[in-house]
Amino acid sequence: MGLYRFLRELHRVGHVTVGTSHGKRGQIAYVAACTAEDCGWSVEYEESSGAMAAAHGHRCRVR
Ligand SMILES: [Zn+2]
Repeated sequence: MGLYRFLRELHRVGHVTVGTSHGKRGQIAYVAACTAEDCGWSVEYEESSGAMAAAHGHRCRVR
């Protein structure tokens, strides 16, 4: 699934998993990442609410 390895999974929306992970700067971040093959979408936030909103807003082009 690419960039992020989840430390803890919090939530799933369709193909998207929200959880805690190490961010790009090595900090702990809330990450929403799409697990669909050929998608590769992911974002990181400092707040779980941001990652949650992004997960719900993700329009996956892979079905
Ligand atoms: Zn996707």
